[in-house]
Amino acid sequence: MSIIQYKDIIEEGDLVLIYINRSQLKPITIRKGDVLNTRFGSFPHDSMIGLSYGSQILTSKGRGFVYLLHPTPELWTLSLPHRTQIVYTPDSSYILQKLDVVAGSRVIEAGTGSGSFTHAFARNIGETGKLFTYEFHEARYIQAKKEFSEHGLDKVLTCTHRDVCKDGFVVGKEQINGDAVFLDLPAPWEAIPHLEKVIAKDRRVGICCFSPCVEQVMKTVEALNENGWTKVEMTEVSALTWESRKEMVREVGDAIKRLKDVKRRQREGIEQLKKLKKKEEEEREEEEEEEEEEEEEKKKKDGEIEVEHASKKRKYEKQPKEKDRDRGYNPFGKGRRVAEGEEDFEWFDVSKNEREIKTHTSYLTFAVFVPQLTPRENGEIK
Ligand code: SAM
Repeated sequence: MSIIQYKDIIEEGDLVLIYINRSQLKPITIRKGDVLNTRFGSFPHDSMIGLSYGSQILTSKGRGFVYLLHPTPELWTLSLPHRTQIVYTPDSSYILQKLDVVAGSRVIEAGTGSGSFTHAFARNIGETGKLFTYEFHEARYIQAKKEFSEHGLDKVLTCTHRDVCKDGFVVGKEQINGDAVFLDLPAPWEAIPHLEKVIAKDRRVGICCFSPCVEQVMKTVEALNENGWTKVEMTEVSALTWESRKEMVREVGDAIKRLKDVKRRQREGIEQLKKLKKKEEEEREEEEEEEEEEEEEKKKKDGEIEVEHASKKRKYEKQPKEKDRDRGYNPFGKGRRVAEGEEDFEWFDVSKNEREIKTHTSYLTFAVFVPQLTPRENGEIK
């Protein structure tokens, strides 16, 4: 299968992303006889073969279910095994559109890391484009290359084991002619001078450097200026989650009505509670009387002498259990739940975002290389 092409039916050897809940997405490769064990139950792979991607399946005991999702670069980013820090979708989607990465684009990426962004690049450029990705850490390179093959990306990309800061980007005799460059490296300024040999000379080329510190950004900007890149700008993506929902229209009269309603239900609840207690006491008394009668009967029949503690023990055993006492009635309950948008009420639309942005990922430094313009001299373009 290919992660960048859609297929309908799950077969043996396919990658399936198991959606367990919003925070748990588990990638599995379907193998006959294997079983996926989760805390919600066990899911035999055999039961997934032949189903459509998107299906929902129940556990064998029928206690829970999961969804079988087709992998996409965005879902892979959420489920991949991390070997490094990765680029997440709010950043990658912004970078892709800023660098204008489209079908047929030729892209240069370093380092490959966990391959999160590599998948998004691969999907955007499709089979008519080409991606050159570089990683100098051997174990990460081997793992990334294996995953790319398993995900059907061999035709779309070339993964090279290389220190790009020392040895540059040239791969054999292949003309790279890059339209877009993405550098997620600790020292992008050391790699920038090597780019000249591999970027396109007949069209405008975009670059983005992904760095967590402003000190790195400053060194990068210097290197970009020195190497003929122009239109340098820096962005920070601060992604916020927005929630949109309906809010019930409430007026002062409604609030008063509600307060009265709460009071009324409290009163009713207290009454109900009193009645329940009284009823329980009566029942207990009845039971005690019955017991005493039974005891009398027994004494009469067997002529036995009653032992005080035995009757006490028996009374204790006859007490109603906790479960019997719980009649499922909550005197202070809030009454009926109103479903969002319910017809009998008036609603208005609201949107809400998170108060604070919890994460800082990185600063994105963008620039372009326009071959017609020679490098700057004294701050002016010649
Ligand atoms: N963008 C990647 C992703 O989304 O999964 C994560 C990249 S990770 C933060 C940075 C990677 O760059 C590391 O795996 C590191 O080994 C690699 N790296 C660092 N310096 C390098 C160099 N000079 N040449 C090639 N790779 C390098």
